[in-house]
Amino acid sequence: MHRPPAMFIADSLGLDFLNSVATPVDTPVDWIDDGDGLIDWLSQAKLVPADELDALKADARPGELDEVADQARALREWFRKFVLEHAGRPLTAKALHELGPLNSILERDEAFLQIVPRHGEEGLALQRMRRWRSPESLLLPVGEALAKFVCEEDFANVKACEGHNCTMLFADHTHRRARRWCVMAVCGNRAKQAAHRSRLKSRQ
Ligand SMILES: [Zn+2]
Repeated sequence: MHRPPAMFIADSLGLDFLNSVATPVDTPVDWIDDGDGLIDWLSQAKLVPADELDALKADARPGELDEVADQARALREWFRKFVLEHAGRPLTAKALHELGPLNSILERDEAFLQIVPRHGEEGLALQRMRRWRSPESLLLPVGEALAKFVCEEDFANVKACEGHNCTMLFADHTHRRARRWCVMAVCGNRAKQAAHRSRLKSRQ
């Protein structure tokens, strides 16, 4: 199935994951509607190293990656409900009791540290890595991105694009918190044109 490049416009990977289903032009696109789509999205999001994705793809049973994509979409829609419910004001510790499904993904993580050569220079660096034992481990970096979003993003900055029928969410990090659109060239211009048309009409 042909999909346009995934969109990373949210200024937050956790919200970009929610935007992995969207209507960039006229037709809705779900970038993770099957296993191949999930692999592509994770690669574009740089959440899993390319060689690990290739290895998981080569070793997967038929249909196994599609099942993980099902789980990823279920996680996405569960998380969307959580975000929409809490967007617009700072998150408090009271929200913790709703986050059980996310904590149980984090609990399965197999991250570890390794000493590696420092990139591009002399010396050594400590690098965090992860064991990719099964296709289900593809959910671990997604869970981590969602958890970081929950713990580090100010939910007061979480906004929905004002575009008509647009479902995209983003974190507004602009100086005056004035961001209104997912992508100015898409929803911003559409809204401007609509306003222009209605001004012309009212003059007639
Ligand atoms: Zn939009």
